[in-house]
Amino acid sequence: MEQEFKNTPLLNTPNLRRNIAIIGAGASGCVCAYYLLKEGFEVTLFDSGTPLRTLLPTGGGRCNLAHAEYDPRELAKNYPRGEKFLYSVFSQFSTSDTIELFEELGIKTYTQPDGRIFPESNSAKDVKEKVLARIKKSNFIKEKVLKIEPLLSGYKLKTSKAEYFFTDIITATGGHFGYEFLKDLDIKIIPPKPSLVGLNCKHQDLSGVVVNNVISKDTGLCGDILFTHFGISGPLTYKISSIKARADFPYTLSFDLAPDLSGLQEILNKNPHKELKNILGEYFPKRFASFISGDFAGFKGHQINGKTRDFILENIHNFTLKITGTNKGEETVTAGGIDLDEINPKTMESKKYKGLYFIGEVLNIDGFCGGFNLQNAWSTAFVAAKNIYK
Ligand SMILES: Cc1cc2nc3c(=O)[nH]c(=O)nc-3n(C[C@H](O)[C@H](O)[C@H](O)COP(=O)(O)OP(=O)(O)OC[C@H]3O[C@@H](n4cnc5c(N)ncnc54)[C@H](O)[C@@H]3O)c2cc1C
Repeated sequence: MEQEFKNTPLLNTPNLRRNIAIIGAGASGCVCAYYLLKEGFEVTLFDSGTPLRTLLPTGGGRCNLAHAEYDPRELAKNYPRGEKFLYSVFSQFSTSDTIELFEELGIKTYTQPDGRIFPESNSAKDVKEKVLARIKKSNFIKEKVLKIEPLLSGYKLKTSKAEYFFTDIITATGGHFGYEFLKDLDIKIIPPKPSLVGLNCKHQDLSGVVVNNVISKDTGLCGDILFTHFGISGPLTYKISSIKARADFPYTLSFDLAPDLSGLQEILNKNPHKELKNILGEYFPKRFASFISGDFAGFKGHQINGKTRDFILENIHNFTLKITGTNKGEETVTAGGIDLDEINPKTMESKKYKGLYFIGEVLNIDGFCGGFNLQNAWSTAFVAAKNIYK
């Protein structure tokens, strides 16, 4: 796709015209380019890789591009980092603006019953192609940016191959590619931590077992736990990993595995000749029922005394896991990035460096699963572009 871009040689001397570089041709960088090109600006996109490749795996290849929460304040509640900052951003560009943007790009959307918004094509590849078709007029330079140097007016940008000058720089480098190129700037960076990721813990081999409708006592969330060979995963685990993204390891998580299970004594009385693992098998998958019954799995209902019953109940209603880390390489987003105190939320411009903007996941903003992270990319991209062309 990149060969379709106009890859003209760039100015190698500062000039008086406003020329804009966007570092990072991911979700936020490309949409920012779209808005700026629409207003007649000259835009140069830098990326060390292929533009918009980061969009392809989103939503399992279907691109969950937003969430049907239309109240900006409610929407912002889905971001463990960035909520207050996003009030201002979402008041300028929120979910309905995203839908409008995609209509403008020729992409119709639909909303799933769980609120997730997808393109009608169910294809991230289609979204990628439609966005790229609208930003063909930008210069695309496939080079890694190594350094940004502030000048008296504008910035010198050093890449692996050359040096360039720009009046404005929009940094849209995401959360997974490092911050090395910013090291000479006085910009505070919160060290990145994995978020929306599986959690590591030791347990007997429960790999493949799913326990439904548990309550995470630490977060108040309800959902299913999927046991994997390295620990736990699934939507509930991802949400917990997001809330606990900045917690130090190890930490303990407690769960109520069967909030509706009460009156165990009565159940035992009604099943005096049934083994405990089979009694609990009515409430849990068979393998898990054996595991949670422990040494008493083969005991019959009438053999379970009060002390054992309470021990089992404690295991069920206060089930704990010692979390030792996150599953390497699996994180969906990073918690951390440019400290939000450095940025004006009305413009996305650095408070210290005029003409230097930060958008998307490079910021210390991350949301839950469900379209919130791409919403952050589109919204911050729009706000930066609007501030430049207004
Ligand atoms: C598997 C997966 C599934 C996901 N699914 C969803 C989903 O369905 N919905 C949702 O809302 N979010 C989803 N996300 C998160 C979402 O994709 C990101 O939050 C979003 O892409 C961030 O956009 P961005 O523009 O900030 O950064 P990115 O899209 O990550 O783009 C950053 C770009 O900057 C370039 N770059 C970085 N450093 C440099 C440098 N020094 N020089 C040149 N180029 C550089 C990179 O090559 C990259 O192309 C998913 C993430 C993953 C990993």
